[in-house]
Amino acid sequence: MDKTNIDDQLTFKFKNGWNCIDDSTHDEVFKFSEEYKDFLDKGKTERECTKEIIKRVKKNGYKDIELFINGEEKIVPGAKIYANNKEKSVVLFVIGAEDIERGMKVVAAHIDSPRLDLKAFPLYEDGGLALLKTHYYGGIKKYQWTAIPLAFHGVVMTKNGEKIEIVVGEDENDPVFYITDLLPHLAKNQQDKKLSEGISGEGLNILTGNIPCKNEDIKDPVKYNILKLLKDKYAIEEKDFLTAEIEVVPAIKAKDVGLDRSMIGAYGQDDRVCAYTALKAILEISNPKNTAVTILVDKEEIGSVGNTGMQSRFFENLVAELIALQSEQFSDLKVRRALANSKVLSADVGCGFDPNYPDVVDKRNVAYIGKGVLVSKYTGARGKSGSNDANVEFVYEVGKIFDENNVVWQVGELGKVDQGGGGTIAYILANYGAEVIDCGVPLLSMHAPAEISSKIDIYMTYKAYKAFFK
Ligand code: MN
Ligand code: MN
Repeated sequence: MDKTNIDDQLTFKFKNGWNCIDDSTHDEVFKFSEEYKDFLDKGKTERECTKEIIKRVKKNGYKDIELFINGEEKIVPGAKIYANNKEKSVVLFVIGAEDIERGMKVVAAHIDSPRLDLKAFPLYEDGGLALLKTHYYGGIKKYQWTAIPLAFHGVVMTKNGEKIEIVVGEDENDPVFYITDLLPHLAKNQQDKKLSEGISGEGLNILTGNIPCKNEDIKDPVKYNILKLLKDKYAIEEKDFLTAEIEVVPAIKAKDVGLDRSMIGAYGQDDRVCAYTALKAILEISNPKNTAVTILVDKEEIGSVGNTGMQSRFFENLVAELIALQSEQFSDLKVRRALANSKVLSADVGCGFDPNYPDVVDKRNVAYIGKGVLVSKYTGARGKSGSNDANVEFVYEVGKIFDENNVVWQVGELGKVDQGGGGTIAYILANYGAEVIDCGVPLLSMHAPAEISSKIDIYMTYKAYKAFFK
C-alpha cells in the first residue's frame, strides 16, 4: 500500500461537485439552472414569488387549505395542500401515511430579499428633478445601490379601494430608475469617509423625472408632471403612496456567469435559491411516510417579524387546522407533538469562500462554491450567539441521508469567530422542540444587487431536500 492510499483511509476532503457527476447529470444541472433563472425573473418580491409558487403548485394538483376547512375536500394520505398567508408567504403540505402527530419533514426558506422601499411620502422636486425617497429593507451596503438600473414592483390601493399592481423597469421597453452617485472629481470628502457612511440612508433618492409641466404657476412643475403621468398611466394620486407598498429592486435579469457558464448572477438568490429548490423538491414528492412540508416565508431579512414572518403563528395554526380536520377530537397537545417530533432543514444561503476577501473567513471551515450543498451545524456571531446549533445525532442523520443519495455536501461556518455572523429562521422552529439544521446554497456577494451561486450547488441542494423528504 503506498502513502496516498493510507492517506485516503484516514483523512477527509470535500469533493468538488462538478467532478462527481456524469455527462447526463451535467446536462440536467444546466437545464435545472435555466428554470431557476426563469423563476428568479418572475419573482422579485415576496408577493410575486407567492403568486408564482401558487400558480405552479396548483398545476401540480395542490389544493387551497380553505377547501379542506370548508369541507369541500377531504384530507387523505397523499393529499397536496397549499396555504396562502396574505399573498406574502406560502406553506405546502403533502400529507404522509403516518399520523401528523408523529412529526413532519420540513424544509423552510424565505422569499423576501434586501431591497429599497418607497417611503410613504416619497415624491419631491429639487434642482429641476423629480425624486423618490426610500427606506431600505434588510442588510444592504448602501453604496452598491447607486448607479445601477432599478425597477419598481408594488401594490397600490386607490381611493376607490381598487388594488393595483405595478411593475415598471422590467420590460425591455420600460424606463428604469437610478440613484445617482458623485463624480470622482468632486468626491474627495466622500471618498475619505468610512465605506458605510459614503452614501447615507437619506441619500438613497431615486431619479424619476426632468420635464416640467407647462403651467408656470405650479410650485414644483417637474413633480407635478410626474403626478400627472402617474394619474394617466396608473390611476395613482399622491395620497395613494401613503398606504402603498412599492419595492425597488435591481432591474437586472438573472444571467449565467463565467466563460464556462458555471455560475448564476442574479438579484434575490438569498433566499429564493433555497425557496426554488425546496419547491422543486416537494413537487416531486407523493405519498411520503411523514407529512412533507415546504415553508416559504416573508420578513426573514428584518428579523422574521410581522404576520407573514416565521415568528408569526401562521404555521402552527395550519398544523392545528390539519389536526382538527383529521381527528374526532381536537387537542392542542397533538399540535405540540406534531411540531416537537418534526425534523427541519432551515433552508438558507451561506457564505462561500471569496478569494478577494480571504481574511474574514477560516479557510478550513468555510464553504466553497462548487462543493455542493452547505450544511451548517450552527450560525450565530461571536461565540455562536443567536445560533440554533444542531444536535450531533441530527447532523449525523442528515449527512447519512445525503451520502446515501449521492448528494455532494460540505460543512461551513459563516466567517472567522470574531468577525461577525448572521442568523436564519432555524431557532424559531427549534423553539417547538423540532430538530433543525441550516442547509442551503453558498453564495458570493450575498445581499448585493447581484449575488453569485454555482449551478452544481443549486442542483445538489435540490437533490438534498428531495432526499430529506423521502
Ligand atoms: Mn437568507
Ligand atoms: Mn439574508
